[in-house]
Amino acid sequence: MRISANFDGGNIDVVSLQAPDNIELAIRPDEGNAFFQWFNFKLDGTIGVQYQLHIINAEKASYPQGWENYQAVASYDREHWFRLPTVYENGRLTIDVELDCDSIQIAYFAPYSYERHQDLLAKCQVHPMVTVEHLGLTLDERVLSLVKVGDGDESKKNVWITARQHPGETMAEWLVEGLMLQLLDSDNPVSRSLLAKANVYIVPNMNPDGGVRGHLRTNAIGVNLNREWQAPSLEKSPEVYHVVNKMRQTGVDLFYDVHGDEGLPYVFLAGSEGVPCFDDAMSSLQHTFEQALLLASPDFQTQFGYDKDEPGQANLTVASNWVAQEFGCLSYTLEMPFKDNDDLPEPIQAWSPERCMLLGEASLVAMNAVLNKL
Ligand code: ZN
Repeated sequence: MRISANFDGGNIDVVSLQAPDNIELAIRPDEGNAFFQWFNFKLDGTIGVQYQLHIINAEKASYPQGWENYQAVASYDREHWFRLPTVYENGRLTIDVELDCDSIQIAYFAPYSYERHQDLLAKCQVHPMVTVEHLGLTLDERVLSLVKVGDGDESKKNVWITARQHPGETMAEWLVEGLMLQLLDSDNPVSRSLLAKANVYIVPNMNPDGGVRGHLRTNAIGVNLNREWQAPSLEKSPEVYHVVNKMRQTGVDLFYDVHGDEGLPYVFLAGSEGVPCFDDAMSSLQHTFEQALLLASPDFQTQFGYDKDEPGQANLTVASNWVAQEFGCLSYTLEMPFKDNDDLPEPIQAWSPERCMLLGEASLVAMNAVLNKL
């Protein structure tokens, strides 16, 4: 029996491996910060044996409410991810598994590796409408990549999409992969209509360092990128610094920043109600976008979500708020669950990469619905 996390995006410390039915593990906090909740490891064992794994520091995780009604994600082939029986009790997260193969990978959500990220960039760049631009280097000297889709016609609108500022929210890059593959499908009428009116700028992975390091929420030195947008710096947050510079060159007419939420079992949007420039026109655009997304995807809903900010009270260090105020545009944070969408539960996989990708496709419908009004 062996547990390892020494790979891209891995995270777990082994506390005790004495008995298969009492394996004690602990999640490692982000380097330079106290955030933790993301885990991702491999268990090598014996087929047919019942294993019980206890994450003993679950109570101290960043969002303990995230463990309630949560089921851990697992895969034998690293392609198909399913849920394992999981209980949160007495401050410990307990996962039960009987092995069908020699080894199993277990994670907080289906991982999206740095290798898959490279595959996505490579797959996109051979398309004639795509340019992949290197915006700059991260603190671990990884390339921050921007995928530009469109003909660059300056009279068109500029749509910006970013994902994985919080690296443990891997569902964000799954969504972007689905969105990009549809956007580049010349048979898709929504995409053709959208690209006739807009250039699309996509940063599929805002935080590659945090992703490779197995962080939940921060970059290589423990900085939460989604609190850096008002004053990004090359020293602390080059990822945001480079994206902000590029946005100022292109302008932004619609911004979609993709995330996952540990606690709420729903897909929801957070709009810009609290930014100083929010007005009736922005409110009407939000209404149009949300109505279109409701029709395009029954996984989306508007009943549950974050409390709306009071007028003028938005935190302008947050990406979607800063962009809304800086460019006076429609701007959203999209949140997906780690657990499942309780409106449409699916017991085997719960919320999954496939559903993220379909929501990416549906997001294009909503974007297309508002473009003429921007
Ligand atoms: Zn997030």
